[in-house]
Amino acid sequence: MENSRTVFTQISDFLDYLEKDFAVNFAKSDALADLDPTPKFPFLCSRHYADLIKKASDPTALLREILPTKDELKKVDGFVDDPVGDLPAGKSDCVIQKYDQRALIVSTATCGVRCRFCFRKNYPFQNIPDVARQVSDWLDTHTDVWEVILSGGDPLTLSPGDFRELVESIAMHPSVTTLRIHTRLPIMRPDLVMQHFELLRELPARFNSVLVSHVNHADELDSESATLFAQLKFSGWTLLNQGVLLKGVNDSIDKLTTLCRKLFSQGVLPYYLHQLDHANGVAHFEVDDDTARALIAKVRTKLPGYLVPKLVREIAGEKSKTPL
Ligand SMILES: *Cc1c(COP(=O)(O)O)cnc(C)c1O
Ligand code: SF4
Repeated sequence: MENSRTVFTQISDFLDYLEKDFAVNFAKSDALADLDPTPKFPFLCSRHYADLIKKASDPTALLREILPTKDELKKVDGFVDDPVGDLPAGKSDCVIQKYDQRALIVSTATCGVRCRFCFRKNYPFQNIPDVARQVSDWLDTHTDVWEVILSGGDPLTLSPGDFRELVESIAMHPSVTTLRIHTRLPIMRPDLVMQHFELLRELPARFNSVLVSHVNHADELDSESATLFAQLKFSGWTLLNQGVLLKGVNDSIDKLTTLCRKLFSQGVLPYYLHQLDHANGVAHFEVDDDTARALIAKVRTKLPGYLVPKLVREIAGEKSKTPL
């Protein structure tokens, strides 16, 4: 029996679960005509996300985000294994510093689901033993770093004990005043976010605390994400969202404006809309830069300025994200 902790690792189990109360037979629908049953980057989806798909007004968009297709096998010029230059930027096993006075921690290689457009899909990541000690040692010798970003993988997939140890090892460094968490779990595994709530509630007393969620489509937000965000906000967190512009998922004026308004209705401000990183196997999600600029220009005419995300691309070797 499925429960809130169920994850599907077999595509067939996942489709069976969806079809149980779905009128559409997804396996036979056009959207899935070229499903790849044995992808190199393995399939993983949570029951929670499957339930979001069931409730979605636009289920195909959400399915595209997590179902492997044969498109991923296409070799396309300019699409490479390490598109954002993370491997050369790694200062130790788990600290990536590309930008002045800020560092990003690859807290774990584990995620709540596996997104088909992920730029890390070809990385040789392994879970790192002893992240807390490594980060602490690194911060000892980098006292100019004032913002630490916990990323991954998804940092909230760590066990409550490991997550606490990591955060406490950072909190020992007075030079670090801002702690940021990059996570997709509020929409993928809200149950795992809840496990960390005691600690999350305490953090704003020590850090300027920023949670950057990763939501790409309004149908990914529901009453559970609303509850989580409301509790975080009440505890003093700043809530921002970054999404990725994805063909067939959110590449329309209507989908983007709906997403931004729904985020705001849950207390979250749109921060970045990323142009796709050119990882091998994601070219079918590409929206070209001119189309992207035109879309965001239209979105700007529909929303207050504070709800328009910055359209950016990550270019390897640059000292910040690059606005388009
Ligand atoms: C994206 C990123 C950041 C954060 O950049 P912001 O523009 O501050 O959101 C920090 N470090 C690394 C390595 C990054 O890739
Ligand atoms: S949650 Fe983020 S890091 Fe994990 S697979 Fe999805 S896009 Fe990649």
